[in-house]
Amino acid sequence: MRYLLLVFFPVVAAALETPSLEPIPETDSVVVAAHVARAKEIAGERFDFLASSFLCRPAENSIAHAIRTVPGFLDPKAPAVEPFQAFDNLYYVGLHAIGTWIVDTGEGLILFDSLNSEADARNVLLPGMYELGLDPTGLEYVIITHGHFDHYGGASFLGREFGARIAMSAPDWNYLRKDISLPHAVMAGYPEVVQPERDLVVADGQVFSMGSASVEFMVTPGHTPGTLSSILTVQDQGQERKIGMWGGQALPWQEDELAQMHESLHKFWHEGKRQGVEGLISTHAWVVGNFELRNRGRGVAENPLLIGKDGFDRIMRIYDECIKAQFGRNHARHHLD
Ligand SMILES: [Zn+2]
Repeated sequence: MRYLLLVFFPVVAAALETPSLEPIPETDSVVVAAHVARAKEIAGERFDFLASSFLCRPAENSIAHAIRTVPGFLDPKAPAVEPFQAFDNLYYVGLHAIGTWIVDTGEGLILFDSLNSEADARNVLLPGMYELGLDPTGLEYVIITHGHFDHYGGASFLGREFGARIAMSAPDWNYLRKDISLPHAVMAGYPEVVQPERDLVVADGQVFSMGSASVEFMVTPGHTPGTLSSILTVQDQGQERKIGMWGGQALPWQEDELAQMHESLHKFWHEGKRQGVEGLISTHAWVVGNFELRNRGRGVAENPLLIGKDGFDRIMRIYDECIKAQFGRNHARHHLD
């Protein structure tokens, strides 16, 4: 049977290498538990969504955990969330589990990620943009944070329909062929996913300015070989602010990829600190608490997504502890082998 699967359904065969949808038992060693406890301590109540979410659990469980706890995760029928303006020139449009961030530079729109498929782009992205008064004919660039289908699925449609250029890092353009998320799309029953044709390549350290905004790109491998993270300069009540966008969320369970992510995190953290980053967004907005912070901050004059330099630093420390916890789990596993 397995032979048949391998011959006729290479897509399904690839799925055998992806994490199980059945959670593995979570019995952490003292060392691992100490990192998890430290992450929770750093998070406190303010950032509890981070330390208690899937980030600090065994990486092998991240998909299974997200399916159980995140509304609409890997659900092709997930409804759109209310689109919103987060900063003067930055907007969120999408689903709960995955979304897009749109920068309105005044000279054109830059879109980060493109939802799961053309169907999502038509049924979620475009209506959301119209609702916010954003004209999709102004779409100039679609930046794909990394080569998983939930990030690039709508891109080729946007390129075709609006002439938007599609940008990704070189390693992730190459990675598309072996995207390990595609089998999940097939199994979950998403409408057909069309991969974008290789277009613009974004390099590490590249700074891109357009109208009222600028984006500094960082290649931060770990989640995928060429995950793109960014530091954005946006406007808040007429004032310039720096915010970070971490490009890949779920921790890899392979040791070398985890080590890459750890190194990438420190690079992003260091650069963010140097530039005075005061907020953190993600196209998986739920992971970094963008929805929670907004809900808690309703009716407050201050922008709830501005968590301050200290907030950024704390979140980076939580990621760091969760990665260290995963290193500890990997080491424990190797000792059992
Ligand atoms: Zn991904």
